[in-house]
Amino acid sequence: MSEFNIAVIKGDGIGPEIVDAAILVLDSVAQKYGHKFNYTNVLMGGAAIDAVGEPLPGETIEVCKKSDAVLMGSIGGNTTTSPWYKLPAHLRPEAGLLGIRKALGLFANLRPCLLYPELSGACPLKTEISEKGFDMLIMRELTGGLYFGKRYTEEVDGVMTAVDTLSYNEQEIRRIAVKAFDVARKRRKKVTSVDKANVLDSSRLWRKIVEEVAADYPDVTLEHMLVDNTAMQLVRDPAQFDVMVTENMFGDILSDEASMITGSIGMLPSASLNETKLGLYEPSGGSAPDIAGMDIANPIATILSGAMLLRYSLDMSEEPDAIERAVKKVLSDGYRTGDIMSEGMTKVGCKRMAELIAYNI
Ligand code: NAD
Repeated sequence: MSEFNIAVIKGDGIGPEIVDAAILVLDSVAQKYGHKFNYTNVLMGGAAIDAVGEPLPGETIEVCKKSDAVLMGSIGGNTTTSPWYKLPAHLRPEAGLLGIRKALGLFANLRPCLLYPELSGACPLKTEISEKGFDMLIMRELTGGLYFGKRYTEEVDGVMTAVDTLSYNEQEIRRIAVKAFDVARKRRKKVTSVDKANVLDSSRLWRKIVEEVAADYPDVTLEHMLVDNTAMQLVRDPAQFDVMVTENMFGDILSDEASMITGSIGMLPSASLNETKLGLYEPSGGSAPDIAGMDIANPIATILSGAMLLRYSLDMSEEPDAIERAVKKVLSDGYRTGDIMSEGMTKVGCKRMAELIAYNI
């Protein structure tokens, strides 16, 4: 029997409900495949502010570092009414999220965007595009580039001027490229590297290093695509993409575009990885305070984040495949939470959805 330690950050809003749902499914996997998962609950975000007065207690970082993986719900509250948002910026819930990414060195963000045939009606693209379906994974560099470069605003000859700097070094590019090729090997073995090499120096270095890394992966096909073309291709023919790797800001924008064409935020998992096997797994959506505690949240994104945890941090393959198959089965059996409900389907709550998926493992 193999035994693993998973740190659990339930977080705020719908966080506790969707994490409990994912644990129910993980336990069903553990039972079927003979594993033991030890969960340690730790605090972050609003729940941590209420309990200990800070969004990221030191103990949370320590437990996460010592664990094999971190499973998270989502953090934050209603940004207009919650008292958390009257606190200084470094004490607000979101400071916990930035802090944990930094503390664990999570530089690669993975967002699979998959259109289930059963949910193709929710895709805003034309039927001839959506009926083909798509299954891509966007890998975004998370700790470099424009969002972390030097920035300032100054007056130059009486004119206010703002400057942001986009910088990448070859090590930052190499480590994310290696992750992208490693992940592509576990999928359909194609990498699309997105840049703006016709204009930006940082993109030209990006392209050169990605090509160097590609030489070590002769079984994986590499293509380069300019970011403006990629934005068009995502709505013209999303089925062409397998793994897309790109820098921080391009990835921020393209991953939102890609999630929009799947039709539901409640279906999209994500993973953030560092150079070791450790990763943080969470749904792409927020804490949805408007529906918290009502047992109507869609737990599928968090359940699929659990599948990613098994695949990328615990190096399993049959087990995550079983979770993904169970999700497809429950959808094809016609079960839906409110956010993905359509005519003729059976509406279920968060807990019931998790039970159905766990049953189908
Ligand atoms: P949100 O994603 O929480 O909600 C947007 C809409 O989507 C809401 O109508 C919500 O009910 C719905 N929704 C989201 N997840 C759902 C699910 N699983 N099932 C069904 N419906 C779902 O975004 P928001 O309202 O802009 O943000 C709310 C809070 O979440 C804020 O405090 C924000 O800072 C925080 N947030 C946290 C994270 C994170 O923890 N990584 C990410 C994004 C936003």
